[in-house]
Amino acid sequence: MDLKNFFSKIKSEILEKEKSVDSNKIIENQSHWVKCPSCESMMFFKEVENLNHVCPKCNFHMRIGANKRISLIADENSFVVFDEELHPTDPLEFVDSKSYKKRLEESLHKTGKTSSIMAGSCTINGTPVELVVFDFSFMGGSLGSVEGEKIVRACNRALEKNHGIIIVSASGGARMQESTFSLMQMAKTSAALKKMDNAGLPFISILTDPTFGGVSASFAFLGDILMAEPGALIGFAGARVIKQTIGKDLPDGFQRSEFLLEHGSIDMVVDRNDMKKTLGDLLKVFKKESVA
Ligand SMILES: [Zn+2]
Repeated sequence: MDLKNFFSKIKSEILEKEKSVDSNKIIENQSHWVKCPSCESMMFFKEVENLNHVCPKCNFHMRIGANKRISLIADENSFVVFDEELHPTDPLEFVDSKSYKKRLEESLHKTGKTSSIMAGSCTINGTPVELVVFDFSFMGGSLGSVEGEKIVRACNRALEKNHGIIIVSASGGARMQESTFSLMQMAKTSAALKKMDNAGLPFISILTDPTFGGVSASFAFLGDILMAEPGALIGFAGARVIKQTIGKDLPDGFQRSEFLLEHGSIDMVVDRNDMKKTLGDLLKVFKKESVA
């Protein structure tokens, strides 16, 4: 059985099994009580869920999946998903401690998805936009050929419809199992966004916990507006690697959103529960600018 048929088969089995379940919520399988990873307060899962997984005691933003993220940003029932039929292939027949095929199979079982991003069109407070959202629970949100292609197609749709694009990143970086094929996605996505730039169409990049490696080194930092969630870890290499390389201790809050804002690397830090309004307002401003 080739990979495409293999994925279609497993996907339909999973969809059948989980029809009523949103498999994307990373922490939804936990028991009734949830411990905040930051302040360690114990809370009811339902309470945290109602607050969109933001700790009411310390404002810590817990990781959320793509479906939840889309429901928080897009206008109700406005999101139309595209390119769900794209499946990863394994041109290198890559094997590390496990085969790439096996890893893909496990991620598919875990998330019900065949790639680490969801891409589609939606409106945000009435303004149409293309929305691309990473899901860290699928192979660490890594950027492979399918993800790159989905981003490029989203840019093409935005160019066709003459509106902006928003990409919400949560990624460990390029997918090493695809080697050079994944690294090529950095150039491919950057080139597509350059076309958006030439056409004067806005790109808002939202950096969430964590955004690293080839993703932060390419499209994630090319936004006209760079927005991050509070406390998100954002960088290229991890702090431990940097510390070993330079042989010095790193400052407090290194690679956190607030640190990046203070040092001019990003434009704004926005609470998850204010994100939709902020995006809606920005899209309206960009729209006016382009008319003028
Ligand atoms: Zn907390």
